[in-house]
Amino acid sequence: MSTATPGAPPASPYTPLLDRFADATRLTLAGRDPGAYHGFVNPPVYHGSTVLSPTTHDLLHRTQPYIYGRRGTPTSDALEHALIELEGGAGAVLCPSGLSACTLALLSCLTPGDHLLMTDSVYGPVRHACDGVLRRMGIDTTYYDPLLGAALEPLIRPRTRAVYVESPGSYTFEVQDIGAIARVAHARGMSVIADNSWATPLLFRPHDHGVDLSIQAGTKYLVGHSDAMLGTVSANAAAWPALKQLHGDLGLCVGPDDLYLALRGLRTLGLRLRQHQENAVVVASWLKQQPEVLGILFPAFDDCPGHALWKRDFKGTSGLFSVILHAAPDEALAAFLDSLELFGLGYSWGGFESLAVPFDLPSQRIVQRWPDGSIGVRLHVGLEAPADLIADLAAGLQRYSAACPAREDAATC
Ligand SMILES: *Cc1c(COP(=O)(O)O)cnc(C)c1O
Repeated sequence: MSTATPGAPPASPYTPLLDRFADATRLTLAGRDPGAYHGFVNPPVYHGSTVLSPTTHDLLHRTQPYIYGRRGTPTSDALEHALIELEGGAGAVLCPSGLSACTLALLSCLTPGDHLLMTDSVYGPVRHACDGVLRRMGIDTTYYDPLLGAALEPLIRPRTRAVYVESPGSYTFEVQDIGAIARVAHARGMSVIADNSWATPLLFRPHDHGVDLSIQAGTKYLVGHSDAMLGTVSANAAAWPALKQLHGDLGLCVGPDDLYLALRGLRTLGLRLRQHQENAVVVASWLKQQPEVLGILFPAFDDCPGHALWKRDFKGTSGLFSVILHAAPDEALAAFLDSLELFGLGYSWGGFESLAVPFDLPSQRIVQRWPDGSIGVRLHVGLEAPADLIADLAAGLQRYSAACPAREDAATC
């Protein structure tokens, strides 16, 4: 770590960590520079808009490392530099939400008249942005089956400028062959964008697989405590200038306290992810044996679409997966979910606590087809004791069965 005059911004705040350090060590060091801040372990939280200059010359010639709050502070620099470390990119920008990081990445490589290839397993609000604001700008989107891999090549048109992957996919968790997609895309001069929120760079490093723009909904595992909204985009050298320019032009920035919460979350990201993985595997394995369960969509299980790719490319699993339940009336689903004690009903995920969200499979997809009437429930397995979570779900599934009308064919419920 560099040393500098106490109180002054470090001359070169980003000190690359040596490759000899493992991820666990890098998480404790990344973005910190105690020598520049009187020895305090963490960078200070700078609340600020205006930055004063000592002279007219300094003001007009922008001689200082910081010019204006929106353009960066030592607090935002610390998080950006930590992300460069973890993602292995050329630069990183911070956005006020994960969704704004997704739309920023898309807009940084598309212009009117362009065509986009978008995975059908994409996070819903990104689909909405493609079908709305991008279409109005004259950018056309084609949704592709996430399992196509290199076979998406015939969908490329002369004006296809980008392919967007999200692996595993939202709600349905298909794992994509990102390396194969990147090879096809780069041979045609296209950019590759990846939403890597599920894995974080600890479990999958997109740039190492040919991705140009790597997105995290930092709201999820990076912040990790359900107390702040944040998005990140990391770019390789080819994608960095356009990303940096557009991020500045759009005036995107993150409030200082949310930056701090992300920096704080970062220090325990590895520890938390390991525990989420351990708990999720126990809970999902139990669920798989239950008669009410038709299937589990979890990349760690060998019947999940793309499981072999997950094994090849990922270092582990996080705590988010889906359960497919046999068809049942709405009252049965409500009986299951409404009285859960430990699984909260709510959107988002990645915090320390367990969550459940029911979803309607057919309405999630335009390319794939799902079994009629089946019900999907996405679970985020938190840091609670797995035995307590299983007891909660067991009681819920009992209520589910009890609320199903008696039928000849008991297996459908
Ligand atoms: C939640 C989520 C986002 C959006 O993040 P916000 O911070 O909620 O805007 C983007 N991508 C994926 C995969 C997500 O799950």
